[in-house]
Amino acid sequence: MKILFTASECVPFVKTGGLADVVGALAPVLAAQGHDVRVMLPLYSAIPTQWTEKMTHVCDFEVQLGWRRQYCGIEKLEKDGVTWYFMDNKYYFGRPYIYGLGGDEYERFGFFCRGALNALPLLNFQPDVIHAHDWQSGMVPALLKIQYAHLPFFAKMKTMFTIHNLQYQGIFGIREVQDVLGLGDSLWTDDKLECFGCANYLKAALVYADVITTVSPSYAEEIQTAYYGERLDGLIRARKASVFGVLNGIDMVDYNPATDQRIAATYTSDDLSGKAACKKALQESLGLNVDPNVPIIGMVGRLSNQKGLDLVDYVIADIMRKDVQLVVLGMGDSRYVNLFSWAEGEYKGRVAARFTMDHALAHQIYAGVDMFLMPSQFEPCGLSQLIALRYGTVPIVRETGGLRDTVLSYNEYTGDGNGFSFFNYNAHDMLHTIERAVDYYTGHKDVWKKLQHRGMSGDYSWNHSSKRYIELYRGLIGEVPLPKVDAPAMEEPNPVVVAEEKKH
Ligand code: ADP
Repeated sequence: MKILFTASECVPFVKTGGLADVVGALAPVLAAQGHDVRVMLPLYSAIPTQWTEKMTHVCDFEVQLGWRRQYCGIEKLEKDGVTWYFMDNKYYFGRPYIYGLGGDEYERFGFFCRGALNALPLLNFQPDVIHAHDWQSGMVPALLKIQYAHLPFFAKMKTMFTIHNLQYQGIFGIREVQDVLGLGDSLWTDDKLECFGCANYLKAALVYADVITTVSPSYAEEIQTAYYGERLDGLIRARKASVFGVLNGIDMVDYNPATDQRIAATYTSDDLSGKAACKKALQESLGLNVDPNVPIIGMVGRLSNQKGLDLVDYVIADIMRKDVQLVVLGMGDSRYVNLFSWAEGEYKGRVAARFTMDHALAHQIYAGVDMFLMPSQFEPCGLSQLIALRYGTVPIVRETGGLRDTVLSYNEYTGDGNGFSFFNYNAHDMLHTIERAVDYYTGHKDVWKKLQHRGMSGDYSWNHSSKRYIELYRGLIGEVPLPKVDAPAMEEPNPVVVAEEKKH
């Protein structure tokens, strides 16, 4: 099959979050199975010269955006069996940031979506499936159906849209989007492009994509409820026969404690002495008290409300009352930067926080800490808990989305489990779960070892999920029937019924 990915970030070229990991790992895995996989990305100035100097120029043309005509160059790089295309326009992508600051995101990513479609005939590439990722690519399925599908070149193309995070939707003024993409007034009704009085690139994809996927089975169910649906749950429920949850994997080569060059010492589940060396090195490099016996709780990720950091804020004094250390690596909201900066000063030698994007340090934290805390409010999939498991670091998570699908809380009666978890979004439930983990760490070394061993021997590769994507692509182009959606939509509790039941 011929597959085109459109995405706004991808490792190893440019990354702000899990989307980049997913695109960068999945594309080569699909290519290794014999498919012609190509990926279209913006050519940001943040992409290191290590890559740009290897690119070759393929073609250039002009993209019409309302009254503007913008240069669009396509550069190319072959790597890992995949053709990576980079869309060049210095005005849109030659900026010192990837997302957000310019106030013209609708235009930048409108350009990206239109440019990606316009490029295809010039690249002489006619994909069977265009697989668009997140709102930045959301107008690809919409534009294809609305403006391109009548052309023979595009007529047979099918689209899949993957939601990596429903919270980010690309919401803009209708006038602005019309000005750039030229979509007539008749399209701005709530069954098509209009969304609560605005344009919404993600909603456009949900309406027009042939198949919608998201990155874990639980999140696929959750987003059909009002609590998790970010105001789009009704639409997602309406399309539920086409909504599939496919769990993300991680790059098992990049994240491998047995070979990782970024960590102080390598190790395997049979011999964890290297992990102890990583812990010591981490404590030294971050200025923590060097003590092999005190458990270190790690957190790596965006400092946003999504990640449940308000729970940590609420009980940080109670957490630190235990004999633990805390290591945080992340960038994001000033509220949490302030919180962890304060904690670093307050708990000298016991808390370390770094507010940069540092991949090497991330690896060192996954390897060097004992527990990994992820109390997310919602979590489409979450990669960090998978990486933690792979490094013998025991996850403590809230049971939501992909965390619920990948971490099973330790059950002292059956011995099952690979971590610790809690259900309610409640700071004291989280605190209690941390305390439970600390008790096992200090008082039940045998259980702890078992959890580490189990985590490290799990299969977090793309083997299974890439097959699932291929099955869906095949279904899309009609080679096989589309699979039935396995998980029934989660029923919203009906308050009347609940009240009736209580009465009886
Ligand atoms: P999300 O996509 O919501 O940000 P995920 O858990 O799916 O969260 O993926 C986050 C990825 O980004 C993980 O690989 C994590 O290690 C990495 N990451 C996040 N913040 C940083 C940072 N400041 N430095 C290095 N890596 C980071």
